[in-house]
Amino acid sequence: MVTVYIIIGLFGLCFGSFLNVCISRLPKGESIVLPRSHCPRCNHAIRWYDNIPLISYLVLRGRCRDCHVPISPLYPSVEALSALVMILTFRVYGLGPEFIKYALLGMLLIVLIFTDLLDRRIPHVITIFGISLGLLFSFFIPVDDRPLGWIFRHWGIFLDGIPASVAGAVVGALVGGGLFYAVGEAFYHWGGKEKEYLGFGDVMLMLMVGTFLGVPLTLMTILLGSFGGSILALTMTAINSRFRGYAWPFGTFLGIAAIYAALNGNWLLDGYLRISGMAG
Ligand SMILES: [Zn+2]
Repeated sequence: MVTVYIIIGLFGLCFGSFLNVCISRLPKGESIVLPRSHCPRCNHAIRWYDNIPLISYLVLRGRCRDCHVPISPLYPSVEALSALVMILTFRVYGLGPEFIKYALLGMLLIVLIFTDLLDRRIPHVITIFGISLGLLFSFFIPVDDRPLGWIFRHWGIFLDGIPASVAGAVVGALVGGGLFYAVGEAFYHWGGKEKEYLGFGDVMLMLMVGTFLGVPLTLMTILLGSFGGSILALTMTAINSRFRGYAWPFGTFLGIAAIYAALNGNWLLDGYLRISGMAG
């Protein structure tokens, strides 16, 4: 069992290495295939043995081998985070189709979390690819069709199997993208923010999350992301006035919340439904 965890972790590190390329190049509209990675200062191509996830950073002590310019600690962080998300996904879903679905969602979200954090960008290449992938997965892996199933059942229509799953994904996307406006508006108003940062990228991100998670967990993502983001923004602004007027990366908060919802959301949701008497 430990061996499996190690293999999954190493796989996650390698994936993270690729995500780093996506994070640094996609917001600039650069190709993620060519040219090969090079040092931003001395332009030296990075040797294959200096490109080993995590290890190389430690061996080189965070500096370029040629010109000794410090390498951003972001790179090993993204690699470690990818490995962690991969391992947690395996813990929750085991090895199977669901692992592939949620691990891919996690990887897409990590890219968006960092492009929004670093460049305030949520590239459409990633979200459009993600939306297509989420819809495709809904044909094979059931998406939560609540509360759609309840409503239809009320009308005497019994959705089942693939149609129910696909409907769950589509409505999840529409609810995620649509409701975002309302909450996003409130968030930025509360944070004292101009509207110009209310980007369409966040809506695309929520459309993507909706196709993967269905309505309940998408709502949970918006709720957790907004609350978490607001609490952090208000606390930081209270501590340091420098943060007044700071453009908070809402997509980063939503991305973190979506990873949480994908991994632990059903547990939280079932608990809520049981306490509120809505289960069954
Ligand atoms: Zn260099």
